[in-house]
Amino acid sequence: MSYNFDDTAKRLIVATNISTCAFTAADEAMRQLEQAGFTELKLSDEWFVERGNGYFLNIYDSTVFAFKIGREFDRGMLRVAAAHTDHPCMYIKPNPEMSTKGYGKINVEVYGGPILNTWLDRPLSVAGRVALKSDNCFKPIVKIIDIKKPIFTIPNLAIHMNREVNKGVELNRQNDMAPLATIFEEEMNKDNFFMEYLAKHLQVELEDILDFELYVYNTDKGERVGMNEEFISAPRLDNITSVVACVQGIIKSSREDGINVIALYDNEEIGSRTKQGADSNLFGFVMEKLYNALGYDREDYIQALLEGFLLSIDVAHALHPNKAEKSDPTNTNMMNDGIVIKRASSQTYVTDCETIAMLEMICQNNGIPYQKYACRSDGTTGSTLGTIANKYIPMRAVDVGVPILAMHSSRELMGVKDQAYMEKLVQAYFEA
Ligand SMILES: [Zn+2]
Repeated sequence: MSYNFDDTAKRLIVATNISTCAFTAADEAMRQLEQAGFTELKLSDEWFVERGNGYFLNIYDSTVFAFKIGREFDRGMLRVAAAHTDHPCMYIKPNPEMSTKGYGKINVEVYGGPILNTWLDRPLSVAGRVALKSDNCFKPIVKIIDIKKPIFTIPNLAIHMNREVNKGVELNRQNDMAPLATIFEEEMNKDNFFMEYLAKHLQVELEDILDFELYVYNTDKGERVGMNEEFISAPRLDNITSVVACVQGIIKSSREDGINVIALYDNEEIGSRTKQGADSNLFGFVMEKLYNALGYDREDYIQALLEGFLLSIDVAHALHPNKAEKSDPTNTNMMNDGIVIKRASSQTYVTDCETIAMLEMICQNNGIPYQKYACRSDGTTGSTLGTIANKYIPMRAVDVGVPILAMHSSRELMGVKDQAYMEKLVQAYFEA
């Protein structure tokens, strides 16, 4: 098995730079699918689908489903790969303008579980969507935006003003995380400076902006690091690594007698309990609609589901070089040693021994290195969308991911090789 580690690293770095929030991540995934010949379907339309083709769905702008129907498809096994489009960050509140003396600041809340201090002293920008006035109350004009320029930063307090800083600092989410946006000039409107900036960016009147969902993100660009460039250091590796693997996997694979599906869900970082999250009926609706469009009934769909398989992909914890004692004594995961299969007796991961065996065989047959994860018995595992989605689609399933360090930092670290292994895994899974 030959791998092109440089290519997969480059592709991932570009994707992390573009995928600055769930909306831009979804947008980029759809752009790639469309470029690869997938056709967009609308969730609310009647579908006319053909065997041998690929389709995708834009679900509320931040979740994307895509499927490829085999040319010879006749009920056959359903294979699903799932990942999430969102990442922990700051979220701008309504009436965002605040001021301290001559400074203009932004009122934000925290989205998900970021390591707060990694957001200090970074160049920050804003991405998300804005809803504008229209002629139809039920159809506001919605625009996805990415300011791209670093317009904010959250400065640290100098060590001279807190000599205890290196003993650890607890940051207050309301007071300490407000990004600094500007120093007021005479002509600036202190009450509206950000909204005016936004209106100008959108080239609309201020009154036309009714509401927004805007996320603050780190504009640092991803890059290769290490003496042999063996690592990728980039914002949002959790979970753009998996989104890229899903998109590449479904584009590159072909399985004549089955249906391959990718489900890229929003809102994993806040528990998935949204209409576009994994804790919803979304998957069932979409699949039932698809089976109907192909001439099958609910019974056929249920059968396909029960014979099917779910690959839930999210990042895993690599062994920390300075905190090795935090990992399990016999199950340590090294970067560049292969994809990680996650399991836990608490079933915070969906995996069971039968599904692990299936995945191991796929890896072995395709020369994909893999390792197994278990949490320290006195620690707690993370969780992901696998078990949540699995409640609604009770198919056999496994949780996997690339091992990373600094999970939920505004900049994370992974091994270059593991991205190639993960991309290969999704493709091999879809073709097995
Ligand atoms: Zn994640």
